[in-house]
Amino acid sequence: MGTSAERGSAGPMLAPMAQRVLVVEDEEDIAFPLVRTLEREGYDVTWVDSGQKALDTLASSPELVILDLGLPDIDGLEVCRRAREAGFEGAIMIVTARAGELDRVVGLDYGADDYLAKPFGLAELQARVRALLRRTSATTTTAVDDSRPDGLRIDVDARRVYAGEEEVPLTGKEFEVLNILAANRDKVVSRGRLMADVWDENWYGSTKTLDVTIGRLRQKLESVGVTDRVVAVRGVGFRLEGGSSDA
Ligand code: CA
Repeated sequence: MGTSAERGSAGPMLAPMAQRVLVVEDEEDIAFPLVRTLEREGYDVTWVDSGQKALDTLASSPELVILDLGLPDIDGLEVCRRAREAGFEGAIMIVTARAGELDRVVGLDYGADDYLAKPFGLAELQARVRALLRRTSATTTTAVDDSRPDGLRIDVDARRVYAGEEEVPLTGKEFEVLNILAANRDKVVSRGRLMADVWDENWYGSTKTLDVTIGRLRQKLESVGVTDRVVAVRGVGFRLEGGSSDA
């Protein structure tokens, strides 16, 4: 109940390089099987039951935060927002019982990388976690597009995007989408490929998520004056068009 449980490095079977997952969930009935499943997968799992403890624990820079929205103290969305504001760069997966709210939540830019509605199957959760961690830890080999000093510069290894001197703050998904579009500059990349590469090959959810991500990406690029544009090709996909020069 009021007692918080913090289970971290106490697990006996930790692989030396285990990826760290922070589970933020106030309901023990949900948290226990979740933590157990993730630990069995070999992750180094810490569980906290409040938003404040989550924010305090972020200093340890877990690779992934699984974040419930309905927390007793601080709303999960607020936790997400504050985490990003504080510079947290790990992946954030929001889980919520407020299924009706999910679309709205996805549409707002809180900086989360994935969303899952409760109740969820543990197998689905595992697949999502694996996909998220694979994406966020993968060192992508796409060429750095540094030939456009006035346009976009994508530092693939650092997973950072710059417009001139200014960094464009992107979430993990926004970065992945942009990176793929930039690697295929002036060509159309299909929705199917973006969904498969950026989300997961097992993702059968709505492609609305893709549109929302593209929308946020456009907004962010525009807000820093990037002339490259993400153009929608109706019924097919998206294309990154250079405003700075034609190749
Ligand atoms: Ca809850």
